[in-house]
Amino acid sequence: MPTYEYECSSCGHQLETIQNFSEAPLKKCPQCKKNKLERLISGGGGFIFKGDGFYETDYRKEGYKDAAKKDKEASSAKPDKKPTKKKTKKKKKT
Ligand SMILES: [Zn+2]
Repeated sequence: MPTYEYECSSCGHQLETIQNFSEAPLKKCPQCKKNKLERLISGGGGFIFKGDGFYETDYRKEGYKDAAKKDKEASSAKPDKKPTKKKTKKKKKT
């Protein structure tokens, strides 16, 4: 089970707790008794998940994949537009 770090945004109190993924994140700060706890996950990449951020990142990941796919398609399809040589009209001044 993952260890979660919490920090109270009200008094700055920090605590660590081991929770299951399915458990709801803690909210109440044991020190100041305010519902100001924010979950920090400082696992490897320095990600900080706040509250229900999991859904957000999941959603973003999908969007990301889609965007990456589009990007790949775009880059693999060779643009058939060649840089057109501009015919410069030379105006002869008479
Ligand atoms: Zn607090």
